[in-house]
Amino acid sequence: MTAGSGQPVADSGRLPVTSIPGIRCLLPAEGLTTLVPQTTPLPDVGGLERTELEALLEAAGIEPYRARQIFRWVFARGVTDFGLMTDLSKPLRARLPELFRISRPAIVGEDRSSDGTAKLLLELDDRRRIESVFIPDSPGDTFCISTQVGCAMKCAFCLTGRMGLTRHLTAGEIAGQVRALTARLCLLDARFNIVLMGMGEPLHNYDETMKALRILGDADGLAVPERRVTISTVGVVPAIERLATEPYMPNLAVSLHATTEAQRDLLVPLNRKYSIAEVIDACRRFPVARRSRITFEYVMLAGVNDSPEDARRLVSLLGGIRAKVNLIPLNEAAGIPFSRPSDARVNAFARILADRRLTVSVRKSRGRDIRAACGQLIVEGSQESTGQKLAAAMDT
Ligand code: SAH
Repeated sequence: MTAGSGQPVADSGRLPVTSIPGIRCLLPAEGLTTLVPQTTPLPDVGGLERTELEALLEAAGIEPYRARQIFRWVFARGVTDFGLMTDLSKPLRARLPELFRISRPAIVGEDRSSDGTAKLLLELDDRRRIESVFIPDSPGDTFCISTQVGCAMKCAFCLTGRMGLTRHLTAGEIAGQVRALTARLCLLDARFNIVLMGMGEPLHNYDETMKALRILGDADGLAVPERRVTISTVGVVPAIERLATEPYMPNLAVSLHATTEAQRDLLVPLNRKYSIAEVIDACRRFPVARRSRITFEYVMLAGVNDSPEDARRLVSLLGGIRAKVNLIPLNEAAGIPFSRPSDARVNAFARILADRRLTVSVRKSRGRDIRAACGQLIVEGSQESTGQKLAAAMDT
């Protein structure tokens, strides 16, 4: 389904004409209307927590409870134009665009896989592009969303890592992917899961990622419960420790991929900073919700980490942790110097884990024909960028 069918006139995702970025209409004392260039854009409702919106409304002399109404329109009903918010008075509808904008990534491309998976190309306000993936499934559909333009982690088998990091996404851009996808796919009322497994390392962009999750979790907005959200991390130990103290506690998935430090140093460069031992230790301390488990992702690379010895080492590494293992047979791509093991090899590995009572699943690679599967998200033509330097500076 495409945008517009059955939805309240959701626009193309572009700004409403009443809030042209960079230009604001001011009324000087002598009563003349002047267009004055404005350096800071208006606050974006799509990137504000409800409490922030309440405070900004109050500062402008507007009743703070209006924030709930606005949240319902923007998040639960997918509206991007204040003029359509019919339970607000006409004067308020006219005033809000002078104070705020409602931005949303624009969908500029869509690929559909034969299995129903959709890979969407989204353009941000600065014209940079990211990818988000919709995976239809039962019992719940899943949105796989990005947290960065590119990624600084450079895992040896991941195409996104090849791009390097261009920049972090803002909370509005992270949450905005869900708004854009729900509107495009007419899923506003549907229940869905969110996995932060698109482009980027969510815990390298901690504050904006967590803010986005709080926005998406707001009861007056999309109300996505924390149990339906999974953060996947390569193992940024201090950030895992910080996550352990959050009131909004999503599920945790850790990309382990190896069972010895030497092997992981090669596959996941961040291991040289936060070793397997430290990552596992942080997981042992992580407060796993009742009836829940930490997922350990394990990309299977033929002849590299797929032996029975690897499987047995994995079992002993995870001993005592409420863990489940998700085996991801490599999604091959040109330029990735590894190959996918045979199904028999994957099954033999899984059998060793299962025989030792470890919960194990083998990830179906959805959308491989459109390069929407794990590690295949990359925006073609992207250049190595200043973001590389930014990443280096932040990784202190
Ligand atoms: N930065 C996060 C999210 C990355 S994408 C993380 O590292 O967890 C989600 C998963 O896809 C990760 O486990 C990642 O290692 C895996 N992945 C990356 N490239 C892959 C590939 N080519 N084939 C299969 N899985 C891959």
